[in-house]
Amino acid sequence: VIKAPPIDITPLIMPEMAVFPGCTPFSRKVELNISDGDSVTVSSIQSTVHLGAHADAPNHYHVNGQAIHERSLDHYIGPVQVIELCIPRGQRIKKSDLKVDILEKRVLFKTLSYPDPYAWSDDFNGIDPEVIDYLGEHGVITIGIDTPSVDLANDSELLSHNRIYKNDIAIIEGVVLNEVDAGVYTLIALPLKIKGADASPIRAVLLPKEQHEA
Ligand SMILES: [Zn+2]
Repeated sequence: VIKAPPIDITPLIMPEMAVFPGCTPFSRKVELNISDGDSVTVSSIQSTVHLGAHADAPNHYHVNGQAIHERSLDHYIGPVQVIELCIPRGQRIKKSDLKVDILEKRVLFKTLSYPDPYAWSDDFNGIDPEVIDYLGEHGVITIGIDTPSVDLANDSELLSHNRIYKNDIAIIEGVVLNEVDAGVYTLIALPLKIKGADASPIRAVLLPKEQHEA
């Protein structure tokens, strides 16, 4: 068995990372520093929890929704299908854009419509609510996307977030899929266990399928 290394689909977290307009950007304060003669280096961070690659909790978009610490870990570990799409910027992914069968209960959409995590742009792709229902009918429990939102940037009604709530699906946003081919992998993308939080940053990786030597 040939074991390929994990593919890191997490953007590097640093102060320059773009966040939704109005959200608190990431910052890190060094409070003690070995270089300055302290016995240890200690720092603290401040940030929106919707930072880079992150998992949304249902209480982000529904008053009765679970917080991130209450979510089943099954959403964040296991087989996942990467689906590549090529649709115009600023449009929602429609059911007719899906040219492949749904093979796994976790799905990641590769749109390449949010090319730079360090420069905010608002013409990224979202997901049409009909696709959410379709995936729900196929037993999908996690939907991820390589944009800051499963909805369009200017959608204050959060149509797809709400449809995802109805289907009890988990949301992963902000992963980087530029170097990832369509296909099936194992996803590891665990949120931090922050009590009551409406999201958490994740370290998201894909494990390629094991290749058996001929
Ligand atoms: Zn979010």
